[in-house]
Amino acid sequence: MNPNTPQEIRRIPSVDRLLAGLDADIEAHGRHLVTACVRAELAAVRSAARDGLPVPDNAKLLAAIRRRAEESAAPRLRPVFNLSGTVLHTNLGRAQLAELAIERMAQAARAPCALEYDLADGGRGDRDDLIAPLLVELLGADLSHADDLAATVVNNNAAAVLLALNALAQGKEAVVSRGELVEIGGAFRIPDVMRRAQVRLVEVGTTNRTHARDYAEAIGPKTALLMKVHTSNYAVSGFVKSVADVEVAALARAHGLPFLVDLGSGTLADFAALGLPSEPTPQQALAAGADLVTFSGDKLLGGPQAGLIVGRKALIAKIKKNPLKRALRVGKTTLAALEATLQLYRDPDRLCARLPTLRLLTRQEADISAAAARLQPLLQAALGPAVSVSVQTCASQIGSGALPVERLPSAALVLRCERFAGKRGGHALRALEAAFRALPTPVIGRLHDDAYHLDLRTLEAQDESLFIAQLSHFAPSVS
Ligand SMILES: *Cc1c(COP(=O)(O)O)cnc(C)c1O
Repeated sequence: MNPNTPQEIRRIPSVDRLLAGLDADIEAHGRHLVTACVRAELAAVRSAARDGLPVPDNAKLLAAIRRRAEESAAPRLRPVFNLSGTVLHTNLGRAQLAELAIERMAQAARAPCALEYDLADGGRGDRDDLIAPLLVELLGADLSHADDLAATVVNNNAAAVLLALNALAQGKEAVVSRGELVEIGGAFRIPDVMRRAQVRLVEVGTTNRTHARDYAEAIGPKTALLMKVHTSNYAVSGFVKSVADVEVAALARAHGLPFLVDLGSGTLADFAALGLPSEPTPQQALAAGADLVTFSGDKLLGGPQAGLIVGRKALIAKIKKNPLKRALRVGKTTLAALEATLQLYRDPDRLCARLPTLRLLTRQEADISAAAARLQPLLQAALGPAVSVSVQTCASQIGSGALPVERLPSAALVLRCERFAGKRGGHALRALEAAFRALPTPVIGRLHDDAYHLDLRTLEAQDESLFIAQLSHFAPSVS
């Protein structure tokens, strides 16, 4: 290629001339953004022109600038289709909120709200009071000590554990079974959290077996609490033993120590009654004698990201006085969504219909298979003969560490191809996966067994039309 002559390079229009043709874009995205896009596009064109590439005409330049501006103005936090087979996918935002929670969040965001304001007497209020009575009502229903329960809310369950440990055991020891020193994705590890909370971890038992006497022998003058951690994201099987909550609770009581249970997920619903694999609830932990339980808002509870701490009034009071509480507290939109989510639990009959997490987890295989049968021919037609689309039964995971071994029967569209977008073999499959990720609403599936799987458990009927509409984007890249 010949380098362009200086005259040709001088044909490149000025920033101002281009801006004059971009009134609508300036109106939509603002002058700053559009000007930056003009400069970026011109820099790219100049550099290409120096290498001998032709200078595009004005219409092409304006179109390229428009594309840059639109891309740049679009949100980075984009909605996606989670068809990965993991219902509560941490990297894809975990729980989808109930409509009521979404409405209340918007309301809290839009107008001033009584976040820390007592409307009865006009004095200062406590943001925890928006949620605590509701939590105590839901968790304490069958407990004899319900009137000794209180609650507080922080940013996530990791924060709840950090805060509880620091408030109750700073400079002292906490006793935990070796079998429960969990690591959750994203670098939450019990030993590290202990260190950060300035608590000395006393490990008892072995990886596979811990006995009540192990806890008993570890208790000394520096012991501040006994702790159990729900091994939420793994299962040890075979020659195993752990100590039941009631036994640890009895030991703690005998020594006058608080007993803290970190549940991780902690659903409030009766999973067995819903036909789901059973999962320990905070109600059960409290009934078994836990003095404090911590659990996430956005795992099985199906609410916003939050960490909930429920337990004895005196312990909650101590936790709330800790300066870390101020650093870890949640904002008004989170509280609005959490309150709405918890209110839904008052009506168990309609809970599954209204709470997306439970609606998705309890979706029947027949319903999912019917959706797969509906979508298979449409996807096959959109992708053409190079890709084979079949329907297969599959097994969804609950995700976010909950019930790591259990699977829910589901149905998937399974895509196989030898060639796609000019690529072959494994490269073809990865190109196919990338093409789904590049759709206007990106589709996240799973590569597995030389095929690309789209688990349809999490594609609800109301979203099918959007999924189908964007299949037209495949037409040009197929073969
Ligand atoms: C998920 C989990 C956490 C961390 O909760 P986040 O809400 O993600 O901060 C802590 N402990 C256990 C046992 C968990 O499963």
